[in-house]
Amino acid sequence: MDRTSAYTRLVSGLVFPLHERLKHHESVAVRRELERSQWMSAAELQALQLQRLRQLLTDVGQHVPFYRELFAREGISPSDFTELASLQRLPFLTKALIRAHTEALKHEQARDLARFNTGGSSGEPLIFFIGKQRVSHDVAAKWRATRWWGVDIGDPEMVVWGSPIELGKQDRVKAVRDKLLRTELLPAFEMSEAKLDGFIAAIRRKRPRMLFGYPSALSHIAKHAKSRGQRMDDLGIKVAFVTSERLYDEQRAVISEVFGCPVANGYGGRDAGFIAHECPAGGMHITAEDVIVELVDPQGRPVPVGEAGEIVVTHLATSDFPFIRYRTGDVAVMDDRTCACGRGLPMLKEIQGRTTDFVVAADGTVMHGLALIYILRDLPGVAAFKIVQHSRERCEVLIQAEADADRQTMVPSVIRGFRQRLGAQVEVDVSFVDGIPPERSGKFRYVISHAA
Ligand SMILES: [Zn+2]
Repeated sequence: MDRTSAYTRLVSGLVFPLHERLKHHESVAVRRELERSQWMSAAELQALQLQRLRQLLTDVGQHVPFYRELFAREGISPSDFTELASLQRLPFLTKALIRAHTEALKHEQARDLARFNTGGSSGEPLIFFIGKQRVSHDVAAKWRATRWWGVDIGDPEMVVWGSPIELGKQDRVKAVRDKLLRTELLPAFEMSEAKLDGFIAAIRRKRPRMLFGYPSALSHIAKHAKSRGQRMDDLGIKVAFVTSERLYDEQRAVISEVFGCPVANGYGGRDAGFIAHECPAGGMHITAEDVIVELVDPQGRPVPVGEAGEIVVTHLATSDFPFIRYRTGDVAVMDDRTCACGRGLPMLKEIQGRTTDFVVAADGTVMHGLALIYILRDLPGVAAFKIVQHSRERCEVLIQAEADADRQTMVPSVIRGFRQRLGAQVEVDVSFVDGIPPERSGKFRYVISHAA
């Protein structure tokens, strides 16, 4: 018997379910359900969505103060929701609304809400909460998608990610869990030549079944391996999962060529949930059992099929801290084809997510833009921001601050953090603005570097 697969079966069949059960999650049961429902017809899936939507609205209408008051004020009753389009009666949930009503959005009976901090790459930091039901559903949705590609939880995985916060908190718990699940993390902020050589050596040593990371970071590593004449397609890597940024064709091509595996794109975030994932037939399937996706124009009206619109999501497993008609700021087109894989899950196409440039430190070290984003993400009072690196010596930071923000302490914090990453002599200009103007191209870019 193949040792690897025996271990994988042990982890996936026993250890992981136990790990989840100890955390009172129901990911295993949910994943089994999802593996059945993915073959449902579009009509059946919509009926399921409507049923779950009514349950969600009934619960939040009784126990979430924000929605209880809204329903009373507007005369809304969940029993009036006879079709998915009824959703349009409800207001959009924006990051500003969540910031203003964080407490009123918590379910009165919610226990053990986990606090999260995200939205960095969208230029709008956000603090929000996640309940256990939500966690198990998001884990299950991700797990289902990895199995589409013939890999499973417990298979060796190399994660190219960059989060000093995640590394700092619960270090030991995470280390044990990661070892158990055979996940190894390569911190991807710094992309110096020496670091890149180290990443390549680490991947060669581990021989993972799957890679997971930002498309920008994985393609950067792939290009470096290529320039070194280092083969990476002989390691048995079955798939490279990419997420969090827009995936460009050129990135897909180089990752696929160098690692000798297909690239599977995923779209979602901690805030909005596990929204969509690519299947081997090329369809970008929405997690429709848990997530209702609407596409709207700048005035908030639904766009006709085939036209691009902002992605608005309603996550059906979020009664503990509802995400109902949440505006993601990303743009996509609904894909109305049927997928060759046979799954009935609806699809998105042409997702124009965020793009994040690499930045360059004064000493020439190339870093992922998130290295700077995390500094701003951690500061209280930042509503939105944009970073423009004009040269290795000068960086400009635009901040839209909240009304009650302490601007006096914000400026030195930003300068200190940026200099730690970029170099002690770097000029950092911080200015406060009323709003962050979009790029002329319409792209979402919150870190722009002219120094890379
Ligand atoms: Zn498919």
